[in-house]
Amino acid sequence: MRKLVSVQKIKNIQDIQGADKIQQAKVLGYHVVIKKGEFNDGDLVVYCETDTILPKDNPLFAFLEEKPIKTRKMRGVVAQGICFPVNILENYQQYKEGDIVTDLVNAKKYEPDFNNINNVEGDFPNWIPKTDETRVQDLEGVLKKYKNTECVITEKLDGSSITFWLDDNDELHVCSRNRIVDNNSCFYKIASQYKEGLKNIPRNIIIQGELVGTKIQSNKYKLNCKEIFAFNVRGFGDYFSFKQSVGLLKLANIPTVPILNNSYYLSDDVDELVQMSKGQSTLGNTPKEGIVIRPKRDIYVNNNYSFADGRLSFKVINPDFLLKYHL
Ligand code: AMP
Ligand code: MN
Repeated sequence: MRKLVSVQKIKNIQDIQGADKIQQAKVLGYHVVIKKGEFNDGDLVVYCETDTILPKDNPLFAFLEEKPIKTRKMRGVVAQGICFPVNILENYQQYKEGDIVTDLVNAKKYEPDFNNINNVEGDFPNWIPKTDETRVQDLEGVLKKYKNTECVITEKLDGSSITFWLDDNDELHVCSRNRIVDNNSCFYKIASQYKEGLKNIPRNIIIQGELVGTKIQSNKYKLNCKEIFAFNVRGFGDYFSFKQSVGLLKLANIPTVPILNNSYYLSDDVDELVQMSKGQSTLGNTPKEGIVIRPKRDIYVNNNYSFADGRLSFKVINPDFLLKYHL
């Protein structure tokens, strides 16, 4: 779950060359643009992440016209999110750094994904963690702690999350990001193509991956069919290691997400990681959406960061992708 709107400290306020009305600054690991002189280093601000929709009946937010906050480039600075002075909150003295105030300001999340999937059979099984990735900009402390840990970098694909497995009776079960689907769903049909392969590995092993291709997220890779690229392999209780997962997927003839580096020693510099997320996709002629970084040997942490199942793993989104697709 993303924070959307929270109280944070603003830092590294700097002038932008040639700009006399705005300045750049940082909040968490995000770059932001502010009105010149509006804040001082260390001030508490109400920070609204990208994809936040703020209500227009509040005069403070009316100028946004209930449009989602997007990544912008101003005077060469990539800006993500908007800062308001903390005193827009009632009794603002009671808030401290890190407090989430999403509900207090009545913010909503912009959900572009198609939620209206047909052929729903039921809710997502509660014994499988839903796929999700935390943004690197929220993890400065984690990066410091795990600096130099050996990691695997995969390409983050822009499609739709799919979860599937074969049970003891060789019956296939398929879920979209949030639901179990029935066998008329396109998710089910695509997963069926991998059914024979799944018979090569033990039953009840859960595969989670990204469904990409025609009609999904505008098919940015211009594929001529739908395909699945796996990024998680689970038993009933936990994830298989990277090495085991790669082995199992190979046996099952299911491609993995593109592996860009399988021995990367983690940097704690968010900007450096963002640089690494840039460049072309392995799948087609478009900037890649980003990368996902995980320790090569899984690390489970106490879960203040909403890692799926507590496993350390995060995404770094390519700003060129966000700017190109106006996200
Ligand atoms: P987001 O798409 O921003 O919601 O980020 C999280 C989602 O990225 C996960 O739920 C997956 O569906 C998807 N994803 C795409 N590529 C990967 C990858 N290489 N590793 C992990 N998750 C991925
Ligand atoms: Mn996605």
